Parts: sequence; structure tokens; C-alpha cells
Amino acid sequence: MNIDEKAATQRVTRMMAIPGRSGEEQAIVDFIAGELRAAGVPDSAIQTDSANRKSHLGGQVGNLIVKLPGTVRGPRRLLMGHVDTVPLCVGCEPVRDGSVIRPKSRDTALGGDNRAGACVVLTAILEILKHGLPHPPLTLLWPVQEEVGLVGARHVAINRLGKPKLAFNWDGGLPWMLVMGATGDVNIEIEISGIASHAGAHPEDGVSAAAIASLAIADLTRSGWHGRIQKGRHTGTSNVGIINGGDATNVVMPKLRLRAEARSHKPNFRQKIVDQFRKAFENAARELKTASGEHGSIHFEATLKYESFRLDPKEAVAQVAAAAIESLGLTPQMRISNGGLDANWMTAHGIPTVTLGCGQAGIHTVDETLDVDSFLQACRIGLAIATGI
Ligand SMILES: [Zn+2]
Repeated sequence: MNIDEKAATQRVTRMMAIPGRSGEEQAIVDFIAGELRAAGVPDSAIQTDSANRKSHLGGQVGNLIVKLPGTVRGPRRLLMGHVDTVPLCVGCEPVRDGSVIRPKSRDTALGGDNRAGACVVLTAILEILKHGLPHPPLTLLWPVQEEVGLVGARHVAINRLGKPKLAFNWDGGLPWMLVMGATGDVNIEIEISGIASHAGAHPEDGVSAAAIASLAIADLTRSGWHGRIQKGRHTGTSNVGIINGGDATNVVMPKLRLRAEARSHKPNFRQKIVDQFRKAFENAARELKTASGEHGSIHFEATLKYESFRLDPKEAVAQVAAAAIESLGLTPQMRISNGGLDANWMTAHGIPTVTLGCGQAGIHTVDETLDVDSFLQACRIGLAIATGI
């Protein structure tokens, strides 16, 4: 598959320079829609859904969806790449540096995550239109708000996608790497109610919410339920990430709010981790008492952020992706991710989705780069998939 390498490299460079943290994607959506219109895609084929209105963030715009009829018969294919970046990318000036593109200043990240993925999808369709290449029915999807919890993909207007049978998502590093599954993630929120008292005059009349939290976290850590978790053949992770409480040193802390997460590929084991958290905090709340025998309490909430998934290597979507990679003389590799992807939600919506790399490295940091050769390989793979190879 030949592509215009110079045009693709310029395109991704322009896209990375456009600010667009999660919720502020209007400018990048306008850019992509403008390129499509200039290439002859009719207005009627271009739409945005209202995923942003279902987001806790709000947001300027929903997911960009483009639906094109096929010129050859075949199951509809969906190509996607999220358009938002982490806030650190805002203000980035991308510059070429040998084999990579990097941010000019040390104050920003680059935004290769995920303007590179979004550009792979755009480049595929622009090449098809420019050369009049035959293709099966195509849906192009540019989700918003990926970086804040896969929000765009979660709330995508499924009924506007034209029932794709195979879906391909670009977001990652090596272009021949196929992510076939990813972990599931539960958000845990715990509010600890202690009992306030004067810390100097009557500490024995109080129960410290901080002490309850400390005992619970120590218990989880000592028993192997915090951090990397390995119990027999079951594995997972958990992390207490945020703790807020107290506003004076002379008051026994009456309230503390804590946020944590639990991940495992296996829903049952993920639930087990959540149960251990609940038990540890309940036990700690019962253990600490005032002089008159009163104790504190906890309020515990666990909500699913996204479910895990695992595709069968024999599934058509995996076979098509692998064949496209092989058509360039590369060897596909399959792996499972320990982070969430838009593919988690797409697969949960009934659209099996593989995720491919597109040259990203050092994402979410000021050391972020985009490997130009890998990005161009991803563009060729994207074009091969979009033309029905
Ligand atoms: Zn990403």
C-alpha cells in the first residue's frame, strides 16, 4: 500500500499542534471534518453524536461519525482513533528531530496520543478518495473524551454506526502490535466518618477517620490486597489514589474521603478485591472506639468504569488486522493490555474491536515522541484495512 508519506507526516504534525484536551475537541473535530469536505465527502455523511451531553464533563462536541457506502460488497468496517489529548499537550509545537517528532519546548507533551491514531483513520480515507480506491462500506469514528475514562466510546450513538462487523482502533506504539483484550476497572469511593473531639483536651472522646483509613490500608497492604495482587492463579491490581480529610491539628479528624481503584481481567476476582477493601475498612471502623465505646462508620461505593474483554485470535477482526500487517511484510503480535481502551466499550457495545499501534512513545509526559516510520506503517495498515484487504 502506497501512501503520500509527506502529506501524512504534515497532516499529523498539524493535528498534534491543535489544542484539544478532553471536553475541548471542537477545533480538532472541525479540522478533520474540513479535510473530509475538501476531499469530497458530502455534508450528509458527516455527523457528531451527543456523547458529550452524557459526560460529567460536558464538553464542546460529541463523537465525530462518518458513514460511507461501499464501492465493493462486504461487511461494514469501522476505523477509529480518539481525538482528545491529556492537558499536558495543550500548547505543543511539534518539531521533527531525526526519526521522530517531538515537542519543541520541555513544557508540553506532544499529543501523538492520540492525534497519530486519529490521523491514521483520516489518512486512510483521504488516500481512498484521492485515488478512487475500491472499499467496503466504511464507518469512521473519532471519539472524544477517551483520556477521562473512555467517555466518548462509552456513550457513542451505536445506532448511527451502520452496524459494523469489524472494528479497528489506533492508539499505541508498535504498528504490528494487536491488543486483543484489556482489563476491567472498578472505581471505589469510601467516606469514613470518625468522631470529632478536642485533640488536646479529650482525644479519648473521638475516633480519628485518619486512623481508621490507616488501619484499613495497612491491613490490605500486609495481606497482599493493595498494589499488585497475586492470589493463587488469580491476578489483579489495586491502588488507593486520593485521600482528603481534616482541617485542623487540634481536632480528632471526623471525616475522610478516599478514592481507589481495582483492576482484574476476571470480573469475579475484581469483585473479590472490592470485597476485601470493604471488609478492611469496615473492620477498621469497628476496631477503634471512644472511651464510651462508640465507633465510626464507613460509606462504601464501587462503580464499574469499564468491563474487561478478550477477543478470540480466530475472530474475523483479528484475522483481518493480522493479514493487513502481514501484507506489509511485518509479523503481527498479539497482546492483552492492563489499561482500559475505547475498545473495551466498543466490544461491550457488541462491536468486536482490535487496537493497533501508531508510533506513540512516552505518552502523557514531556518526553513524548512520535516515531515517523511507525506512524507511516500504521497509515499503510489502516489503508489496507479500509480497502478491504
Ligand atoms: Zn490514547
